[in-house]
Amino acid sequence: MPTVATVRGPVDTAALGRTYMHEHVFVLTPDVQQNFPEEWGDEQARQDDAVAKLSALAASGVRTIVDLTVIGLGRYIPRIQQVAERVPDLNIVVATGCYTYQDVPFFFHYRSPEIRTLLGMDEPEPMVPMFVRDITDGIAGTGVRAGMLKCAIDEPGLTPGVERVMRAVARTHLATGCPITVHTHPGTHQGLSVQQVMVEEGVDPGRVVLGHSGDSTDVDHLSRLADAGFWLGMDRFGIHLDATLESRADTVVELCRRGFADRMVLSHDAACYLDWIGPEVEPFIADWNYLHIQTAVLPYLREHGVTERQISAMLVDNPRRFFEGD
Ligand SMILES: [Zn+2]
Repeated sequence: MPTVATVRGPVDTAALGRTYMHEHVFVLTPDVQQNFPEEWGDEQARQDDAVAKLSALAASGVRTIVDLTVIGLGRYIPRIQQVAERVPDLNIVVATGCYTYQDVPFFFHYRSPEIRTLLGMDEPEPMVPMFVRDITDGIAGTGVRAGMLKCAIDEPGLTPGVERVMRAVARTHLATGCPITVHTHPGTHQGLSVQQVMVEEGVDPGRVVLGHSGDSTDVDHLSRLADAGFWLGMDRFGIHLDATLESRADTVVELCRRGFADRMVLSHDAACYLDWIGPEVEPFIADWNYLHIQTAVLPYLREHGVTERQISAMLVDNPRRFFEGD
């Protein structure tokens, strides 16, 4: 029976149930938080708030979320373990990798493949053994193993830093079998750069979710990537800055009409707490929460001809198939 690593241990893929493939629990900037902790405030209150939000999500019928918080986004697994223990009906899959749109973090800047090769070190890319260890041994002594790899490419494109992380993620995938999510910027067709690197590295597109595909309404572009075998992450429902509920959902409707219900996964990219956004902005992003798909998106999809079978594919069958690597 294939399993997926979660915070509380391995779960059979058949038991993942309704799964949101791109969420977060906490997104933090650790050195700002360590020095300016006022907004975070009371640790217990923050954890209680997260338990309440995740419990409401579980009560809506969702059994599993993938928390794509990696290096660069403030991953801290002991806190996630404490929260997960209090939400027993929800599986949380955590991730390893590195999130940057430009350069590698300075930790890696001088630990470069060039210098390590000059020094005759066996593994030129230090990220690879770090990511492998997160997947095979567990993260930072917690025993929690990562079940997903994550990297990013945004408007700046395939910068040297972005390419370095992406190739490290690809090579970790080949060493471990752990699947990949890439944060992409579909408006500038960055999925094509992902395709180029993954093909060069020998990664099967069927093991890769192109995250944030749903930020684009360019259905022809998304269809080409799905035809190439990638999974399309329609995973920012509730963010209505450049998009609306209707524009995001209409893209899913059209992709379903074209036969791609078995290539899409749905999510919000929401968090219980994200320190990138001040509390003064919260009234403008009220729909960006874990319940928006259930309360607003699914009714819209049904009204516009998406069938129960297609909804179940996007929420249940596709995440299972993705993790099983079929
Ligand atoms: Zn995200």
